[in-house]
Amino acid sequence: MYDVAIIGAGPAGSSAAIFTAKAGKKTLILDHDKSMTKRAWVENHYGVMEITGPELVELGKKQASKFGAEILESAVKNITKTDAGFNIETENGTYEANQVIVATGVAVDLAEAAGIKTKAGTEPRIKTVLDVDADGRTNIEGIWAAGTVAGVSVHTIITAGDGAKVAINLISHLNGERYVDHDVLKA
Ligand SMILES: Cc1cc2nc3c(=O)[nH]c(=O)nc-3n(C[C@H](O)[C@H](O)[C@H](O)COP(=O)(O)OP(=O)(O)OC[C@H]3O[C@@H](n4cnc5c(N)ncnc54)[C@H](O)[C@@H]3O)c2cc1C
Repeated sequence: MYDVAIIGAGPAGSSAAIFTAKAGKKTLILDHDKSMTKRAWVENHYGVMEITGPELVELGKKQASKFGAEILESAVKNITKTDAGFNIETENGTYEANQVIVATGVAVDLAEAAGIKTKAGTEPRIKTVLDVDADGRTNIEGIWAAGTVAGVSVHTIITAGDGAKVAINLISHLNGERYVDHDVLKA
């Protein structure tokens, strides 16, 4: 049983996984390698002079794995609620998790099939997004959403930031107090 299953390893999903894994939450990332970010050349991501989309996506996965997140390349077919949390059905088997973060980019089909409420998108070329509250919670208790699919502006620094925000809210929910992840520069 995982504490958190994250669907999508684009900037939103992997950024969320860096925080949940670093907070000691047993984290699984499921991704079918269709990130729109892999078509990007990025020069507007704060702190990074310039980077190709494929390099940014790979780096994000490496950072999440560094803190113990497991990454499986697999398409998620359905999410069903259980007493202990959720069953996440993939093309290669079913995984159990207490909490789920949906970070599927432009894809809303999985969320709709799972009964997650959607609404019209407001960003250019984004037709439909998931209806989340300010913390990133969907209408299904225990399922959160981050990044493009949650309706934020479609830029890597913003989707990655949203993934981090939602992860911190989820960790705080599990810990029962606000969570902070600061490392200090050694003198
Ligand atoms: C051509 C192009 C150029 C761009 N240039 C820039 C730029 O210069 N600067 C900038 O800031 N932004 C740029 N962007 C936008 C940037 O890519 C997005 O802002 C953003 O990073 C999207 O992140 P995301 O994590 O929300 O979605 P994605 O990066 O699309 O990640 C979603 C992931 O979810 C996975 N997934 C979806 N459904 C499932 C499922 N059922 N099972 C398993 N996995 C699933 C997909 O495989 C994918 O890996 C560009 C985008 C494009 C298309």
